[in-house]
Amino acid sequence: MKKLCFLFSLCLYSLQILAQPPAIEKVRKLRQEKEHEWLNEFIQLLAIPNEASDAYNIQRNASLIMDMMRKRNIQDVKLLSPATKDAPPAVYGEIKVPGAVKTIIFYAHYDGQPVDPTKWAKGFQPFTPVLVNGKTADAEKIIPLPPAGSPVNEDWRIFARGASDDKGGVMSILWAYEAIVKSGQLPNCNVKFFFEGEEEAGSGHLQEILLKYPNELKSDIWVISDGPVHQSGNKLICFGVRGDANMDITVYGPTRPLHSGHYGNWVPNPALMMAKLLASMKDEKGKVTIKGFYDDVTPLSPAEKAAIANMPKVDEQMKNELGFIKPEMDGYSLQESLMLPSLNINGMQSANAGKLAANVIPTIAMVTLDLRLVKGNDYEVQQQRVTDHIKAQGYYVTDKDPTAEERKQYPKIAKVIKYDGYNAQRTPMDLPIAKEVVEAVRTTANGTLVIVPSLGGSLPLYKFEKYLKANTISVPIANHDNNQHAENENIRIKNLWNGVETMAAIMLMK
Ligand SMILES: [Zn+2]
Repeated sequence: MKKLCFLFSLCLYSLQILAQPPAIEKVRKLRQEKEHEWLNEFIQLLAIPNEASDAYNIQRNASLIMDMMRKRNIQDVKLLSPATKDAPPAVYGEIKVPGAVKTIIFYAHYDGQPVDPTKWAKGFQPFTPVLVNGKTADAEKIIPLPPAGSPVNEDWRIFARGASDDKGGVMSILWAYEAIVKSGQLPNCNVKFFFEGEEEAGSGHLQEILLKYPNELKSDIWVISDGPVHQSGNKLICFGVRGDANMDITVYGPTRPLHSGHYGNWVPNPALMMAKLLASMKDEKGKVTIKGFYDDVTPLSPAEKAAIANMPKVDEQMKNELGFIKPEMDGYSLQESLMLPSLNINGMQSANAGKLAANVIPTIAMVTLDLRLVKGNDYEVQQQRVTDHIKAQGYYVTDKDPTAEERKQYPKIAKVIKYDGYNAQRTPMDLPIAKEVVEAVRTTANGTLVIVPSLGGSLPLYKFEKYLKANTISVPIANHDNNQHAENENIRIKNLWNGVETMAAIMLMK
């Protein structure tokens, strides 16, 4: 009897996990009918180049998205243009639902990272979207989109710049709304759409838009659809993001490249100077040694610590997948290290290496640093700390190439260029509306939902807090192995469809 009872409760438990709310089942059914049409639409959008600095194509992207919104009877579709002329606009639209008391703004961005087509795998081009029967960019696995009515395998992927970051986000939001309406339902909240056009370029004009359109952008919460789900494959909700700011550092050797035999040992080599400078920034345990680097970090709340402790452990899986055995920060799990500010070397250049190498002493060495920030950090303070550290290593710091006079005066010269950046943001985990979003998404997550206080990646969410006093929560949809920001970017079809259900569940939350 005891055993029977146990079996019965086990069945009940499984049913609870498996049973999807009927509203979401309707959304899924509609999606199954629309798959073919939707994928064609997505491919059309992916074929338009989308670097934020490419004003002509940014406009084409924005126009196509507006057409897609009008086709779905979304109201008040328009561009929200920043005060600065020719800066990328955001695409806006809204749905007023009779009797709704809450308003949710759904955010995604339609611009993408710059591309280097030569780095894409053979047979692949950033703006020629292709369907692939596999996980990697293998030209032999490129397949045509099957004709309407034939099944689309959920493990197939679409390869193109922006597929996962973040045109997939744009589409999942529009498709979710369409699926709700066409399956005979209505959202339970007022829905607003906001698609940014220069996120990957640092959102330099976002605040102008936020300040110019306060009425359009009133809401109870912003739901951000950007970034990957958890590496375990489970759905993910993030209460915050890290901030980001870049810097370029150049150090100088002789004024012209020199024969390494005639001058080696005597003329200082900038590549070695740079290597020493960078090595001085971190200790053996991977901690940044720059003075004050961790001083402003806001400690994690008990709820945030608990959320991290409850996350599935993927460190061993990821080490295996990425081919290394020892993490850079000794004693820290992946998630723990993402809760600290970081100093990353994005790339280094001096003279040529390998086949193109010549026996020379180079004239310069250059590096780009990427500073990720957590709650409490100010990006300009953090950049200044790096500059102060360079000075403390005996460098004269300037923001231009050194003059002949400066070269005579200082033995070690560094040019430091600081780029505009932004701070981190974290929404409190006990905010009621955020908790409602969590519960809505949980109904679509088959019992497994990963909740994290902060994403490792960055979005300018602190601007929403600062200029609109708005709440934000991130609900990413892409597969974790999507190569975002790099060559061969892709999205798995299943992640798109899961994304539709996730966004629909939020629109349907009471
Ligand atoms: Zn993105």
